[in-house]
Amino acid sequence: MTVNYIALAIPAFFLLIFVEMAVARQMRIQAYRLNDAITDLGCGIGQQVVGIFGKAAILGVYTAVFVNASLIGFAEGSWWPWVIAFFGLDAMYYWWHRASHEIAFMWAIHAVHHQSEDYNLAVALRQAWFSGLSSLPFYLPLAFLGVPPHVFATVGAFSTLYQFWIHTETVGKLGPIEWVLNTASHHRVHHGRNPRYLDRNYAATLIVWDRLFRSFQVEDERPLYGVIKPYASWNPVWANFDVWAELWKKARSAPRWTDKLRVWFASPGWTPPGVETPPPHDVESGPGFGTGPRRRWPSGSTYLRSSRSLRWRSWR
Ligand SMILES: [Zn+2]
Ligand SMILES: [Zn+2]
Repeated sequence: MTVNYIALAIPAFFLLIFVEMAVARQMRIQAYRLNDAITDLGCGIGQQVVGIFGKAAILGVYTAVFVNASLIGFAEGSWWPWVIAFFGLDAMYYWWHRASHEIAFMWAIHAVHHQSEDYNLAVALRQAWFSGLSSLPFYLPLAFLGVPPHVFATVGAFSTLYQFWIHTETVGKLGPIEWVLNTASHHRVHHGRNPRYLDRNYAATLIVWDRLFRSFQVEDERPLYGVIKPYASWNPVWANFDVWAELWKKARSAPRWTDKLRVWFASPGWTPPGVETPPPHDVESGPGFGTGPRRRWPSGSTYLRSSRSLRWRSWR
């Protein structure tokens, strides 16, 4: 029986969300919209419920592979499985995450996490319901390498916990830490829909994978958050099916059978020949989704100034 660290951390998540709200207010950043934050939390609650079954299935398959097919046996109390799990899981997360942005059916699962046009700690809780299923094949090599299920589950939970704090605009750049670790600045780029930010910075904990595999982008302009085709709803259930519906429509209208299949495995932006190409979206200025007027962005200089002052304070 493994401890559910994520569930235990829920009170801390809420506490930190309130702290972030106060800091953002002081920095004059409009970090939260109530409707958007409620949708984020709705996705997170749904994921916890669906995840009970998902996690059981994943750990079941993982354990079966570990028991029957692991190639290396480690002595009781050895640190090696922890070291292999930390680096191995982080590397495999990178490739799962990259595939989740580059292969259409995997994007259909993962897009949920990117639909919010705000960027705050609540977005970290906006988790896709079916991610566990798409990530399992990526993590099975760890079972072959002899990482016991409880080590895999614990390291995985701490990887998820690490990624909570990077969903905020209240933390600026962190000096040399930015070279090695995934930070708020790096992950803001990942959530940006600015053309230069699309499909960049896939890391979980170590940003070195992005540097190594040439998907790294430094935050050098203010990110506009969300997906290219806005998810025009606050419904946290449909959020998990919206892109599936879109792919289904594309597959149905493709005249060729091969293309009907290819739609699911091609790049998410691919349109089969004979299907009307959607009009190009103006990513820079919208369209945004929200109620009432678009949120006001602090000017670039205000943002950098406040980030700098915060960094200065944290370095003292
Ligand atoms: Zn992503
Ligand atoms: Zn994220």
